[in-house]
Amino acid sequence: MPYDDQNIFAKILRGEIPCKKIYEDDFVLSFHDINPQKKVHALVIPKGKYINLDDFNKNASKDEIVGLINGISIVAEKLGISSENGNGYRTLANINEDGGQEVPHLHFHLFGGEKVGKMVS
Ligand code: AMP
Repeated sequence: MPYDDQNIFAKILRGEIPCKKIYEDDFVLSFHDINPQKKVHALVIPKGKYINLDDFNKNASKDEIVGLINGISIVAEKLGISSENGNGYRTLANINEDGGQEVPHLHFHLFGGEKVGKMVS
């Protein structure tokens, strides 16, 4: 399946629709989820056109991979939910239909600001 340039996160990356931005650098954009499931619910997405984690791991450069992993920790710290802040959070990526992925641009969810509960419901 080719990358769909019309997916909502591609539009956010192009600035065609707004987002509540938390952080941006050369490799990632992070913004608040429009439908938060926890007190803090952020998304971290790579700037490159990757459908999911498998696509990313196969096709992204080492710099992009490191940039995304770093981006998650940077955003968590900015939000005050990281271990640096004495707190904690959950990060997850849904992959394809069986994994519950709705938007076909790789994204990591960050949940925190409270105890996030059981891992899978
Ligand atoms: P997933 O099911 O893993 O693909 O998650 C997609 C997430 O994107 C959901 O949590 C949505 O609430 C969120 N979402 C969809 N549209 C937007 C948007 N325009 N801005 C921020 N978050 C969005």
